[in-house]
Amino acid sequence: MALKLRIMASRGPARRGVPPALIYRAEVYEDSDRFRECKWGCSHNHESVENAFNCGMSWLNDQIDESAAESA
Ligand SMILES: [Zn+2]
Repeated sequence: MALKLRIMASRGPARRGVPPALIYRAEVYEDSDRFRECKWGCSHNHESVENAFNCGMSWLNDQIDESAAESA
């Protein structure tokens, strides 16, 4: 099972007099899933793609650690 990371951008909450900034969330989907259903999504509002990407990568690393521990 290959998990892929994607970054979703959306508009953040609008504040009076301030245009809403883009916020980013990390989502993980299964590579073999043709619908690319979201398996996991981070619940943060990241202010940059890089932050969201790092968040998703750390989650992916946790999953790898867990499956490695199970097979050991
Ligand atoms: Zn996050």
